[in-house]
Amino acid sequence: MINNPIIRTYAPLKSKYLAIFDRDDTVILDIPARKPSDEIVWTTGAIQALSYLYNNGVDLAIASNQGSIARNQITVEDVLETNNLIQDMAAEHGFGFSTIAFCPHHPDGALGNIYAIRCQCRKPEAGLITAIIEHSPALKIVFFGDKQTDILAAKVVPHQRVTSVLIDSKVQDLLSKAVDWLAEVGRES
Ligand SMILES: [Zn+2]
Repeated sequence: MINNPIIRTYAPLKSKYLAIFDRDDTVILDIPARKPSDEIVWTTGAIQALSYLYNNGVDLAIASNQGSIARNQITVEDVLETNNLIQDMAAEHGFGFSTIAFCPHHPDGALGNIYAIRCQCRKPEAGLITAIIEHSPALKIVFFGDKQTDILAAKVVPHQRVTSVLIDSKVQDLLSKAVDWLAEVGRES
């Protein structure tokens, strides 16, 4: 469906804990209209945070707005290829994302582009995150993002299980925030 997010599943979601991440400026440094040939650089602390969660049995996922597709700046294939490269790099560090989902839409996209629509998945709408968690058995879910739109998206997900954590990509406190989240939900269960 043209108005749905695009989702690639690399492994089944199976844990009772699920951590979903924004992509650009949360786990990798943002490059506007990123091409697969652009260098991928993890944000500070991202490898440690992702490894920590993964090694503690938390399923990992990415939920990313990629409105540049609707603006004709990059293609769906570009984003899929970049995401596969991120997954390859993750594997080199011993962790992996179970699911990577992105929204190709933008309400102000290029004339004639099929993704130039107002959708229900572009953050701060809930659809991107909802599409991931509907395949997850997790009882405790967190969304980490660096923008208020990320936090808003997590807040409007029609599910009690989701919490959201705003990280500052300049300070990069992703590791400490991840450790704090797992400690808190671990105490609750
Ligand atoms: Zn969308």
